[in-house]
Amino acid sequence: MSSLKEYIRFFHEMGHDTFFEAQNAAQDVANGTPSDELYSFPEAKHTTNVSDAAKSIFVSQKITNSPSRVLAEKAKSLDELRKVVEEFDGCALKRTAKRTVFADGNPKSPVMFIGEAPGANEDEQGIPFCGQSGKLLNIILPSICLKREDTYITNTVFWRPPGNRRPTAEEIEICRPFVEKQIALIKPKLIVLVGSTAVESLLSSNVSMHDLRNNHYFYENMYLDEKIQTFVIFHPSYLLRQPGKKKLMWQDMLKIKSWIC
Ligand code: URA
Repeated sequence: MSSLKEYIRFFHEMGHDTFFEAQNAAQDVANGTPSDELYSFPEAKHTTNVSDAAKSIFVSQKITNSPSRVLAEKAKSLDELRKVVEEFDGCALKRTAKRTVFADGNPKSPVMFIGEAPGANEDEQGIPFCGQSGKLLNIILPSICLKREDTYITNTVFWRPPGNRRPTAEEIEICRPFVEKQIALIKPKLIVLVGSTAVESLLSSNVSMHDLRNNHYFYENMYLDEKIQTFVIFHPSYLLRQPGKKKLMWQDMLKIKSWIC
């Protein structure tokens, strides 16, 4: 009951029309149809005008021979990569964290969400986005035909920064080869960067979220043989602090929806 209340409140904050639109979409998900559609990922259905949409191409930068890069290169499967990350001692965040938070969801998913860093709940449970931000994400996803379990979810760094501070540029840099390799092993059709830390890590961009959102990009890195369509959305924790931005988030989610169902 309380989650229904939260759900209704969330969409009321987005605006009246979107509430009914989102409710229908969520009902579709409950009925099971969109997740079947999700797996077929019919590109012909997307409605975004490609010529004016994909304005920028970002390339993964800085190929180094850091320990994480060397290890990431050796990992041939997702299980191997998970093991390597769990055993990796080269990131100081691990010393204060309780658990490694590698990923959640379906490795065969065409849609990959990449957030910032584990928080307290994630650190306890070893699952990304299982706290307050995750709760909001779980409300948002069904409104665009997605069930959480049909997506793949990871973070920019794999350990909780002390006091939930933003990861430093060095911590991001250390973890980035693992994230890049993870993307290549999942090979999603669509990447959704959740918040500015993921943008900093993967798009190498310090442009503001407000300027980056409402558009889409092509992401590539040294392990990929083709570019991946990439969207940028606000982090749920930002929306929890700034509920007035939920309308913008809804616009962005509709854009993503036009690509996936
Ligand atoms: N915020 C994130 O960016 N990731 C999580 O896993 C939890 C909160």
